[in-house]
Amino acid sequence: MPLICLGLEGTAHSFGAGVVSGEGRVLSNCWDMVSPQEGGIHPREASRHHSDMGPDIIKKALTEAGVAFRDIHLIAFSRGPGLGPCLRATATMARSLALKLGVPLVGVNHCVAHIEIGCLESGFRDPVTVYVSGGNTQVIAFAGNRFRTFGETLDIAIGNMLDVLGRIVGMRFPAGPGIEKEAEKGENYHSLPYSVKGMDVSYSGMLTAARRLYSEGVALSDLCYSVQETAFGMLAEVTERAIAHTKKTEILLTGGVARNKRLGEILTGVANRHGAAFHTVSPPLAGDQGAMIAWTGILQHSAGDKLDVADSHVRPKWRTDEQDITWRASS
Ligand code: AMP
Ligand code: MG
Repeated sequence: MPLICLGLEGTAHSFGAGVVSGEGRVLSNCWDMVSPQEGGIHPREASRHHSDMGPDIIKKALTEAGVAFRDIHLIAFSRGPGLGPCLRATATMARSLALKLGVPLVGVNHCVAHIEIGCLESGFRDPVTVYVSGGNTQVIAFAGNRFRTFGETLDIAIGNMLDVLGRIVGMRFPAGPGIEKEAEKGENYHSLPYSVKGMDVSYSGMLTAARRLYSEGVALSDLCYSVQETAFGMLAEVTERAIAHTKKTEILLTGGVARNKRLGEILTGVANRHGAAFHTVSPPLAGDQGAMIAWTGILQHSAGDKLDVADSHVRPKWRTDEQDITWRASS
C-alpha cells in the first residue's frame, strides 16, 4: 500500500479531514463549517464546533477513502496561521491520533498548503499564487527556499471585506457568492478607494466607503459591481507586478474567493498579457480543507520533516515566508 496521510485542517471556521496517498491521489476530503445565524465567527464557538464535529468528520473521511485507522502512515495538521482556539482543538486531535496510531506527526503551514494543493491539481511547478480567502489576501512566489509574500493586505482580508459588506446589506455569511450574483446585474460604477501601497493592498477604506454609498441609496447591484471591480483590480495590479518582477510563467488562483468568476476573468487577462498560464483551483480544493494539509504533510515528510508531539505547539501568527521549503529545489 502506498503512503497514506490523514490531514486535519482547522484554522478558522471549517474543520476538515482529508486522506491523500503518497503519489498525490485525493482519496477523500470531508469538511463542515460553522455557520453563525448572525454576525461573524467567534473563535471559541468555532473551536467547540471542531472538537464536537471532528471525530465524525475524520471517520467519514476514512470511510470515503476506503481506509482504516491502521492504514494511516502519517498525520498532518494545520499548525497555523489561524485562530488560536481552533488551531489548538485541531492539534489536540492530530496529536492524540499520532500517539494512538504510533505514526509521525507533521505540522503544516495553512498558506503553503493552499499553494501545494493548487500545484498538485494544476501541474504547475512554480506559480505566482494569488491566495484570497476569508482570513488571507496574499500574492506569493517561491524565491530562495521560501514562499515569499510579494504583496498582502495591510488590514482586512478581501473575503472578510465581502462578508462584512454582506452583513451590512443583509446577506448571510459567507456573503461572497451573494455579492457576486448582485454584481452581475450592476451597470453603474461608483468610485471607491483604490488602495495599492507598494505591493500591498488595503480594503478597510473601501468597506467604509461602500457602507456610505449603501446608506446613500446606491443600488445594491451597482454597489457590489463597484466593489468587485475595484477590489479585484487592486489584486490584478499586484499580481501583474509580481509576474513582471519574478518572470514566472504561471498564475494560480486559490482560496475561497477564487470561486468568484469575475476575479478569474480579470486574472486571466493579466496572465494573457504576460504569456503566463492560468489556473483557478477547483472549488473543493480552493477553500479550507484537509486534503491540502495531507498532501503538504506528505511533501514535508518526504523531505525528512518530523515534529515531536512535545514540540508541536500551534503557531497562530505563522507567516508563509517563515518556513524553509525543504521539499522544493531552491531557486
Ligand atoms: P475560505 O476562508 O477559504 O474558506 O473562503 C471563504 C471566503 O470566500 C468567504 O469570505 C466567502 O465570502 C468567500 N467566497 C466564497 N465564494 C465566493 C464568491 N463566489 N465570490 C467571492 N467570494 C467568495
Ligand atoms: Mg484558507
